[in-house]
Amino acid sequence: MTETKTAMTGNESIARGFYEAGGFLASSYPGSPTVEILDAIKSYKRGYVDWAPNEKVALEMAIGSSISGARSLVSMKHVGVNIALDPLMTFTQTSVNGGFVLVVGDDPGMKSSQNEQDSRILAKFSNMPVLVPSDNREAKEFTKDAFWISEEFQTPVMIQMTSRLCHSRSVVDLEPPLDIEVNGYEPDVSNHAMIPPYTHKKQYEMNERIEKLEGFSTMSSLNKLEEKEGADTLVITSGLLYHNLKELDPQVSILKLGLVYPLPKEQISKLVKQYKNIIVLEEMMPFIENELKTMGVECEGKKYFSFTGELFTEDIKKGLSLAGVMQDEISTEPESFSTPERPPLMCSGCPHRPVFDLLKKSKVTVVGDIGCYSLGLLPPFEVSKINISMGASLGITRGMRKAFNYQGNNDPIVALIGDGTFYHSGLSGIVNLAKSSDKHDNITVIVLDNSTTAMTGGQDTPSSSKYKETDIDLDISSVLSSLGFSRITKVDQFDYQKTKEVFEEEIKHDGLSAIITTRPCALKYKIKEQHYYVNPNVCIGCRNCVNTNCPPISMKKYSNNDKLKSYIDPDMCVGCSVCSQVCPVGAIRPFKGGQ
Ligand code: SF4
Ligand code: SF4
Repeated sequence: MTETKTAMTGNESIARGFYEAGGFLASSYPGSPTVEILDAIKSYKRGYVDWAPNEKVALEMAIGSSISGARSLVSMKHVGVNIALDPLMTFTQTSVNGGFVLVVGDDPGMKSSQNEQDSRILAKFSNMPVLVPSDNREAKEFTKDAFWISEEFQTPVMIQMTSRLCHSRSVVDLEPPLDIEVNGYEPDVSNHAMIPPYTHKKQYEMNERIEKLEGFSTMSSLNKLEEKEGADTLVITSGLLYHNLKELDPQVSILKLGLVYPLPKEQISKLVKQYKNIIVLEEMMPFIENELKTMGVECEGKKYFSFTGELFTEDIKKGLSLAGVMQDEISTEPESFSTPERPPLMCSGCPHRPVFDLLKKSKVTVVGDIGCYSLGLLPPFEVSKINISMGASLGITRGMRKAFNYQGNNDPIVALIGDGTFYHSGLSGIVNLAKSSDKHDNITVIVLDNSTTAMTGGQDTPSSSKYKETDIDLDISSVLSSLGFSRITKVDQFDYQKTKEVFEEEIKHDGLSAIITTRPCALKYKIKEQHYYVNPNVCIGCRNCVNTNCPPISMKKYSNNDKLKSYIDPDMCVGCSVCSQVCPVGAIRPFKGGQ
């Protein structure tokens, strides 16, 4: 066996663990922080690996594969579990055939998420064990362990990652993959058809499973005890926090939990008797703390540490000082780092910009959704004012319409949705709009079809086939039309004037209509035309072009001219022409080999 080492991110380590464990099927819906797992698995060119239209379908694919005896993995960000929870809650009642692992990326501090959720709660809620790696080496090893646990205890297993662990890089040992057979499907209605009377029995089975796992947890090397001589405090922790705590080297013993649910209760009950203080160090919710308190263990935790966000070494030092464990180490505020502020910005030539520019000028009520176009919430556009969750814009719009109507308010409402989100969970909202909108409900749905899941790095959507070969070829206008939309207009939004006319017409329309904007994502498809330039002698400095928020455009002082005039960075400009179309005096022109 040749063992080598390489530096990997946490996401790549999970992928490697899947490969080494002989995993067959992996599926996911892209979302930060776990988005890179699937591409890393794809690079091993083995088994079946595929993006799904949403997390529920991704989970269902992995369920099907696991039922057929193949080791299967599904990954998603924390909010994705909400979408997948329906099949998950029932699947955890069944006895697993091929190992089944759900990798969830939590995001303490919400670096790239709409909320903060603690997936350990959902693991307990759905009766599945949860492993929490503390570094990349463990991320890989725990993935292999998770498959073993899954098959040994016939249970789905969750691995909880966090943003920092997903993206940090460290050295991991590489081992050859196991040669795991796909066992095949054995029909078993009492196990796979969750209807009464089978479901009742399953409750007892799940309970027994968790009890067995509790026993396993006590014996398992997944949990590690580090005793410090003379220490009267035991800190119980898990994940990256273990390493942050070790940096401080406090006078405490540490129980590092790898298997966080169910807890090794027997081990803990004996252990806590030896210590005066029990302190729980964990991010987000007081999950371990509450489990311990339910067991009757006197402990403290969230009293000293923040209930939200990441906990860095300084936060731990401060908490332990408050707890009296590091008396002389009381720090004031965490060290502040001066990093330059960088506001989120749409890319050069982004096809969403003309849409937002037009909607801003129209002053219409806009309901946004999740995707790059969430940036429409921010300056300089500040177009949409609402953004809740994937696909929610359509249902929200319908609810608002009804309330507006009741108040005698006929103002039009525009719902925005991207193509990825349309297929993720917008379809049911679209059906709801199509089936039940009153004839005079003024609603305009704008589908921003850039043919990719742009915000997470450009994964395919079911409508990507316009620009590349994929096995799915769905046309959004055909879908809308099959659902009963009778008023659908496709528009090239880089034709600013034409798009303006279509927007005005449809927003004015007393009923339901849909507009599909058709320009592809500038970053994914990298379409670069000849760049545009500004003639400063014609420019009147009105800033109309700057307000389209395209990164290459800025105002600058030209020689022999006191007034600030517009300027386009030729290297950044992709030649979409939108700025030239909003310029009232024709100062912006395409570069044709000489100005
Ligand atoms: S043509 Fe204008 S709007 Fe388009 S990419 Fe260039 S600078 Fe930006
Ligand atoms: S829109 Fe035209 S006139 Fe106004 S600043 Fe830009 S280039 Fe100058």
